[in-house]
Amino acid sequence: MNASMPTSLTDGLDAIIEMDAPLAGHTWFGVGGNADMLVRPKTEAALKELVRRCHNENKTVRVLGSGANLLVLDEGVDGVVIKLDQPAFTQWTLRPNGESNKVLAPAGVDVLKLLNACVREGLDGLCQMAGIPASMGGATRMNAGGKFGCIGDAIHSVATMNHRGEVRVHPHSAIQFSYRHSGLPQDLILWTLLQLNPGDPGALRQKMLEIYQFKKDSQPLAEHSAGCLFRNPVTSDGTRTSAGRLIDLAGMKGFTHGTAFVSAEHANFVCAHKAGRANDVLELARIIQDRVLQSQGVNIEMEVAVWGRSFQPKEKK
Ligand SMILES: Cc1cc2nc3c(=O)[nH]c(=O)nc-3n(C[C@H](O)[C@H](O)[C@H](O)COP(=O)(O)OP(=O)(O)OC[C@H]3O[C@@H](n4cnc5c(N)ncnc54)[C@H](O)[C@@H]3O)c2cc1C
Repeated sequence: MNASMPTSLTDGLDAIIEMDAPLAGHTWFGVGGNADMLVRPKTEAALKELVRRCHNENKTVRVLGSGANLLVLDEGVDGVVIKLDQPAFTQWTLRPNGESNKVLAPAGVDVLKLLNACVREGLDGLCQMAGIPASMGGATRMNAGGKFGCIGDAIHSVATMNHRGEVRVHPHSAIQFSYRHSGLPQDLILWTLLQLNPGDPGALRQKMLEIYQFKKDSQPLAEHSAGCLFRNPVTSDGTRTSAGRLIDLAGMKGFTHGTAFVSAEHANFVCAHKAGRANDVLELARIIQDRVLQSQGVNIEMEVAVWGRSFQPKEKK
């Protein structure tokens, strides 16, 4: 056990605990270093106890979803990484308490599996998520989505847990959903309650496949990436413009830096070679930002979360 990590953090905890845990396999980039401690609680009570102990011991807590919007730097991460991938957090309930068209999805639910289940059940409202890899917690946190809508469109309410283990429910009306942002407090997302609509399973399946095909035709879904690396910036007239187009105009499609490269298919997808360096991805991101600023006069901000011992990410607005 890492000498700097007290056993009092995990003693008697109903959880799977791994010290010095490699995180590369938990992210879509497939690169990056280790977590000092990776904890996968088996119950909500164990999760609550863990976050309280981390707070008391002054340990940083990071929550890992499906790792599809995350770059873990080669230096790895300190503190405790929590992954909600045990059955208590991955099983959804259709029509909880008999509430028609609602779905209760704990944070560890695989959104694409849930989308398929909803389509089979004739529940409409999640097709915009076709082709977007995510856990329910990660999708809710980022208000994931795109051209066809966002997860926030389907959200009735969200429960968060703070560092004292207290749970608070936020109704949709109290959540400031906006472009790739939920406005939720920086607490752990525990579950999301979806409000869907009745639909015909055959028609829904067709819609889901069309949206997936649209994404597949325009994005390199099979590469090691985190989807779009940069947020679409706001222009002087208040509208958002495509960061991918700006990167393309800066002549960076296909540009390579070490083991990272800009996709030739979609310029906002920065990809990593298998067993590449996370720091190459971050350095390439900075090169892109400089070139876009120089050639297009626009600042572009990263959309992807970056974790590292020495890296302090900025809160997105
Ligand atoms: C091929 C590909 C295509 C993509 N296309 C799109 C797209 O079209 N639209 C889009 O919006 N995104 C897209 N993405 C990005 C990604 O799918 C979304 O951002 C998704 O919501 C990330 O969810 P996650 O569970 O993987 O989160 P992670 O990457 O694991 O985490 C992202 C952030 O959310 C936080 N987080 C995760 N779970 C919780 C929780 N339970 N409580 C609190 N915080 C939490 C993490 O701490 C981190 O800060 C794409 C990614 C890939 C790889």
